[in-house]
Amino acid sequence: MGRILTQTLGYPRIGTDRELKRALEAHWRGKVGADKLLETFRTVQRQSAEAQADIDRVGAGDATLYDHVLDWTLRLGLIPTRFKSFDGLELYFAMAKGAAGLPALELTKWYDTNYHYLVPEIEADMQPSANFKDFVEQIALAQELLGERTVPVVLGPVTLLSLARLERPFGEVLEELIPLYVELLSTLKELGVAEVQLHEPRLVLDDAGEFENHYREAYQEFARVHLPINLVTYFDDLGDTYAWAVDLPVAALTLDFTRGDNLSLVEQHGWPKDKTLCAGLVDGRSIWAIGPAEVLDTLNRIQRHGGIRLSASSSLQFVPYRASIEKHLPEPLKGVLAFAEEKLAEIVLIGRMANGESAVSEIEASERAWSEYRSFAQAEPEIRERIRTLETGSYQRHSPYSERRPSQIELPRFPITTIGSYPQTAEVRRLRGRYKRGEISQEQYEAGVDAWIGYTIGIQEGMGLDVLVHGEFERSDMVEFFAEKLDGFALTESGWVQSYGNRYVRPPIIWGDIRRTAPMTVREFRVAQSFTEKPVKGMLTGPVTILNWSYSRTDVPRKEVAFQLALALREEIADLEAAGARVIQVDEPALREGLPLKRARWEEYLEWAVDAFRLTTGGARDETQVHTHMCYSEFGDIYDAIDGMNADVISIENARSGDETLHELAEFGYSREVGPGVYDIHSPNIPSVEEVKARLKAFSENLRPEQIWVNPDCGLKTRNWDEVLPALGNMAEAARQMRAELEAVAEPSLASD
Ligand code: GLN
Ligand code: ZN
Repeated sequence: MGRILTQTLGYPRIGTDRELKRALEAHWRGKVGADKLLETFRTVQRQSAEAQADIDRVGAGDATLYDHVLDWTLRLGLIPTRFKSFDGLELYFAMAKGAAGLPALELTKWYDTNYHYLVPEIEADMQPSANFKDFVEQIALAQELLGERTVPVVLGPVTLLSLARLERPFGEVLEELIPLYVELLSTLKELGVAEVQLHEPRLVLDDAGEFENHYREAYQEFARVHLPINLVTYFDDLGDTYAWAVDLPVAALTLDFTRGDNLSLVEQHGWPKDKTLCAGLVDGRSIWAIGPAEVLDTLNRIQRHGGIRLSASSSLQFVPYRASIEKHLPEPLKGVLAFAEEKLAEIVLIGRMANGESAVSEIEASERAWSEYRSFAQAEPEIRERIRTLETGSYQRHSPYSERRPSQIELPRFPITTIGSYPQTAEVRRLRGRYKRGEISQEQYEAGVDAWIGYTIGIQEGMGLDVLVHGEFERSDMVEFFAEKLDGFALTESGWVQSYGNRYVRPPIIWGDIRRTAPMTVREFRVAQSFTEKPVKGMLTGPVTILNWSYSRTDVPRKEVAFQLALALREEIADLEAAGARVIQVDEPALREGLPLKRARWEEYLEWAVDAFRLTTGGARDETQVHTHMCYSEFGDIYDAIDGMNADVISIENARSGDETLHELAEFGYSREVGPGVYDIHSPNIPSVEEVKARLKAFSENLRPEQIWVNPDCGLKTRNWDEVLPALGNMAEAARQMRAELEAVAEPSLASD
């Protein structure tokens, strides 16, 4: 048997020093020309080719200026009519970010990752056409550095179309795309590449069977080019799709062995003799080092069934570049972290082991590192015990909603509130920055924050809002803020990963049992409440959102980690109550996005996710009004879960969904209070009084008036005060007019007196 090869499927693409972000932003400000931007782009490509020089088959052509789905959308000429007057980079960025009043393509989550792609729009009269020039350039550049190791990464046509919004029949568009892909494959063949990766993650979803004929048709055509195809899947196992997917006319398939259960599928059904099985054993989405011995063991099990290759489980774009450069992480933690660079070393190491080289010292080093980590991250017996001994009562409020509601704050009809954050202006960011760099003392910093709180409370009072917030000026990010304060978390200095386009995030790392050592939000709450008689909302990020936006440990189930977070937040709620909070909001914007890819696993997830929220809020006094906030509108399939959270009030995004959420809520018969957003904070447009009123009227037709809250559809941190002030003013005025109209109807005799 030949040597076992190694492969990758894509690499981080933001630049080791976030060069691309800086170049992009400078370009958009007109400070950097296209040439300079593209030079930076090539630097990033060179960095990644050089980093992967020891890999046998290197995924290439995956670099992107903004989003790889957008790249393929453009390469295939799928350009919506509204952008017809643009071309070149202007067209690219217009589709990415909008331009001249034209809306951008919609951003949405890439499967179950925290990366967001731009949704292609296939219009009714759209004719695909090919332009692969930029892609071919990327491949040529990689070939200069990697020669025949270069393997083009191509987004497969069925996956691409299944991500799109289609105004034409799927099959019809696919027919037109197939020849373009054939043309691409022929071009790549002429470039002398040895194989091509076609990425088709769509194959792992439950309903992939519906696409079977499309896959067969497309891949039969592709086979005619006689360029070996590696059909790449990730993020889950193939499930029922396995039976026919392994039968497609391709030279190799890549399967993810870090998520789902592809191993059982291979062991049950066997593997076709004519195909290479590329085993994704090094997890592209986890930041944890592997145990080389275990991985080798799995590789050997897989090898019994056919010819194999060792692979990353997915692109490494989901992890930061390097763990080794982090200066402030605890050493025992650092020893077991593997970001992209460390993962490449792991792939090379297992590759060597699989080819019979001894790696005794590496295995020993890995075992030592893990054992040091284990003694460092020892379980906190008391926390584990608290979770083991939870009782049903811990998840429940003292009294049912109808009984506790009368004891909560009394508010006028259509109570007016906001979701939490107020503008994070340059001044606010500078204040936090100076404190972080040690340029100002804690007292000076807090005085600065308090001035903003005072200002914001004054504004809200002046506008006539009913439930006020402190404005979240002390938080750069709603998850990072809590991660910094809780035990069990670590924060990196340079661990950036792309969320979308030029937006990068540094997800916190959960490495140990989670414990709250001191109140986290009480100081700012007190300050805010001291400025006003009106109720101020305590403001917390929920356990599921903190978990979903962090890298979690893998030695403890996610459910248990969520419960640990819930217990810490529960203590915070008790402290907020003691400090006088009558209203507390626990945000869960990331609850829905944690849904597993396969429906069969939804229920299990939702059960513990809802329980974690209930555990957080279950200890709140009856008198405390518990709010939650979620900013997405596709609620359709999780209403039961949302209802099960048992929050007294929920605020949700509605402004962009054309009141669809609202109709669904009404249909579901949601009985508690709701604030469907009255305007879209993602846009700079300022809603008029009439527009807000129209919204509120629509709400009143679907919900009982006493259920309805008046609020924007998300936090205001991305807006500036010039937008916020008139928008809130109009929102409040609309609510007052609605109240007056309601009273006029309810008490006609008074009016005629
Ligand atoms: N309370 C947060 C804010 O207002 C909620 C943010 C969110 O929903 N993502 O910013
Ligand atoms: Zn939101």
